[in-house]
Amino acid sequence: MRTLVMIRTFLVSSAGLLALSACFPGEQVASPGEVNIYTARHYSSDEAVYAAFTEETGISVNVIEASGDLLIERVRADGERSQADVIITVDAGRLWRAEEAGLFQPAPELDDVLSDVPANLRDPDGAWFGFASRVRVIAYAENRVDPADLGHFTNLADEQWRGRICVRSSGNVYNQSLLASLIASEGEQAAEAWAASLAANMARPPQGGDTDQLRAIAAGECDVAIVNHYYLARLGRTSDQADRTVYDQTGMVFANLGDGGAHVNISGAGLAAQAPNRANAETFLRYLLSERAQRAFAELTNEYPVIASVSYQNPVLDAFGVFEADVLNVDELGENAGAAQRIFDRVGWP
Ligand code: FE
Repeated sequence: MRTLVMIRTFLVSSAGLLALSACFPGEQVASPGEVNIYTARHYSSDEAVYAAFTEETGISVNVIEASGDLLIERVRADGERSQADVIITVDAGRLWRAEEAGLFQPAPELDDVLSDVPANLRDPDGAWFGFASRVRVIAYAENRVDPADLGHFTNLADEQWRGRICVRSSGNVYNQSLLASLIASEGEQAAEAWAASLAANMARPPQGGDTDQLRAIAAGECDVAIVNHYYLARLGRTSDQADRTVYDQTGMVFANLGDGGAHVNISGAGLAAQAPNRANAETFLRYLLSERAQRAFAELTNEYPVIASVSYQNPVLDAFGVFEADVLNVDELGENAGAAQRIFDRVGWP
């Protein structure tokens, strides 16, 4: 787990401003200033998005990076002294927690662009919004599993999967949100019965991250695994031959959850409660929904754009095909997270 907090600054080229100053000596040229982005995303490709933002707006970007829960703790601890302008994190469960901690403020100035984001991928109170989406899917060994048996997440509770499932620990927010979604759709009792059966069907005690579950399928340790789609996509686009082999042997189902549709979660952002550079923060949040940024998320981190009209080139996402997404508001993932954690503890899903 990364616990280091790193600070990097993307320097703006000031050549243009200097040239202007030279033309009008004595005249003040307003600097476009900076924006402080506190992010829990662990993708170096986001730097390309920041650099493009600076190139387009002249606003320099200071990045403060920390792992999910640590980031929220840090902003909370700084209180009114917080320099955070924008808070970015993955998984609606974490955004919900940040909102509960009072770390966001509404940004009504963004209403025009936010209306292009599907309503279920935004906070109903307007504190945060999804700028990219990810799907929790079921991966399987192509030579040992019939994907027709995996159409719904509840299928994983069946006897036939005894000793065959790999999944990471319940301490991870992705699984908390998955179970929270099941609580929303099936109720707490049914969700608990499912979690108990799933724990009984595990091939091994939970260990590692999503990529490790995929490698375990290829290694024959298990036949199916629950993972976020982009982990598989990453293996499909790597130059590492061993991981390419994992990808080639692994199939994937956009399994339904609830009444229908795949379990969708988000990478999301919001305007920080203090936001010393509020105007620049709004410019940045708007930029996250721009065509250029939306396309970058699909092409660089293999996530799905939230703006439906955006086109992109990603052969692996194309190969995954189209899917129907669950319309549950992701805010409910946070609301049910506590109940989900209690269920995990009761059923012995470590
Ligand atoms: Fe992830």
